[in-house]
Amino acid sequence: MLRDFSIHTTIDKKYDTCIAGTGPAGITLARKLASSGQSVILLEAGGLEYSDQSQGFYECESVGHNGWPQFTRLRYFGGTSNHWSGRCRPFDKSDFSASSVYDLPGWPIDYDDIEPFLKEAMEIIDLDFTKGFQTLHGNLISKDFQADAFAHSPPTRFKDKYLHQITANKNIDCFYNATAVDMQLDSGHQNIVSMAIGNYKNQYSKISADRFILCLGGIENPRFLLNCNNQMKTGIGNINDMVGRCFMEHLNVPMGSFIYKDLTQPRKLQFYTTDDFCNTKNVGKSNITLSIVNQIRSYGRTKQIKNFFKTIACHMDIEDKVQFISDFKCPGMGSIGTLIEQSPYLKSRISLSNRVDGMGIKRAKFDWQINDYDKKTIREAALGMAKSFNDAGLGTVRLADFILDPNLDIPFGHHSHHMGTTRMSDSPNYGVVDSNCKVFGIDNLYIAGSSVFSTGGACNPTMPIIQLSLRLAEHLAKH
Ligand SMILES: Cc1cc2nc3c(=O)[nH]c(=O)nc-3n(C[C@H](O)[C@H](O)[C@H](O)COP(=O)(O)OP(=O)(O)OC[C@H]3O[C@@H](n4cnc5c(N)ncnc54)[C@H](O)[C@@H]3O)c2cc1C
Repeated sequence: MLRDFSIHTTIDKKYDTCIAGTGPAGITLARKLASSGQSVILLEAGGLEYSDQSQGFYECESVGHNGWPQFTRLRYFGGTSNHWSGRCRPFDKSDFSASSVYDLPGWPIDYDDIEPFLKEAMEIIDLDFTKGFQTLHGNLISKDFQADAFAHSPPTRFKDKYLHQITANKNIDCFYNATAVDMQLDSGHQNIVSMAIGNYKNQYSKISADRFILCLGGIENPRFLLNCNNQMKTGIGNINDMVGRCFMEHLNVPMGSFIYKDLTQPRKLQFYTTDDFCNTKNVGKSNITLSIVNQIRSYGRTKQIKNFFKTIACHMDIEDKVQFISDFKCPGMGSIGTLIEQSPYLKSRISLSNRVDGMGIKRAKFDWQINDYDKKTIREAALGMAKSFNDAGLGTVRLADFILDPNLDIPFGHHSHHMGTTRMSDSPNYGVVDSNCKVFGIDNLYIAGSSVFSTGGACNPTMPIIQLSLRLAEHLAKH
């Protein structure tokens, strides 16, 4: 059943499970739990289409590096899957054995705990499991860098693929225009009794369920928990001040340019640091893309396009990259892009701003920070890549000044991957959820999405989000 909460504001049924959020995490969980016979209420804050009104609730106060949190997620049915690119790369085994950085432990689970869910996760996003993950071109170019293997989802838009199934499912009641605004605890503060939801006319209702799962994305999961502060002053699940800490992104660093020796080389190469390289240098992982970019000539319609990009680039603060692309002159010359692991770091965090949204709920304060370990990861990856590229006889790399001079600031961008803010841990001292994604100290509250990632590797988050959601659904179906 599908209902608009702006019209149907009375919900008096009690459900087995209440799920907030209809992105890849929420939809996967709803479908799985419903198929195991549970009654599920699925809540979506936005409507069935994009609207400025709903998206406006995602505005944040940004005080650290700018990750454009209001543009890098979507607040309507299907969530950010409505504009994800579909690149999929699984976690590596070694991502789960990473030793602690800055005294924060890595994952409390192993690769083998999520691997059994890979096939189903791939099917959900229309990937062919039998084909696996492919490299673009080339093999190992050195002992430090291997050709990267990945797969591309069409990309699957969860609204287009699953809205009809959700609507037709007898075990799922889905309400849109239904924003989760608060949760009520029992007197012992150990169980969630109900979740309060509101619509844009400021009409409210309370949902009763045996358990609750937050699937609101990497910024809203902590924001929501911190805002649930009527009964617990610092927010629910936040006794140790860990909610919102350790915000991680993947770092996109314009490392420099390269020129091929042999112009018949492929236009694009993607490489990944080997475990040996990361262990020897004591750095995080890096995914490096080398792409040939032809000179963009600008006249007629091309000129208009160029001007358009320049205007957008200024707005998004990436004018240097657009300049770099438009200045290319030599055939065989290309740019280097990266997707680099950021380590968990307490000072990089989501907290609450004093500004409020249209329902009077405090907005997120977005404070994205990187540390010296991350800077070392960036510089070692750049130097290693340049050396390997040269040694393999592929051509020459010209590194940006900030790679060679440690006194210069490193400019970096984001990948719209919001991770780590309700991290998984063995101990409430270092995380918000346990190895079953249950919030420490609360018996019936769970979290799904990349906010539970203990570390983020240098892979794309959505497929692992789905693997972890399937694992959570299996756990809940048994308990
Ligand atoms: C431009 C772009 C490209 C990307 N490309 C890739 C890629 O190639 N590969 C990859 O792996 N990942 C990619 N991503 C990231 C990917 O989109 C996310 O990892 C994924 O969507 C996260 O799923 P989720 O369900 O956890 O959160 P979301 O998809 O963000 O869903 C959260 C849902 O919760 C709802 N919600 C929020 N607050 C409330 C509330 N209070 N009450 C009720 N509902 C609420 C939202 O409306 C939304 O529907 C990309 C992201 C962007 C922006």
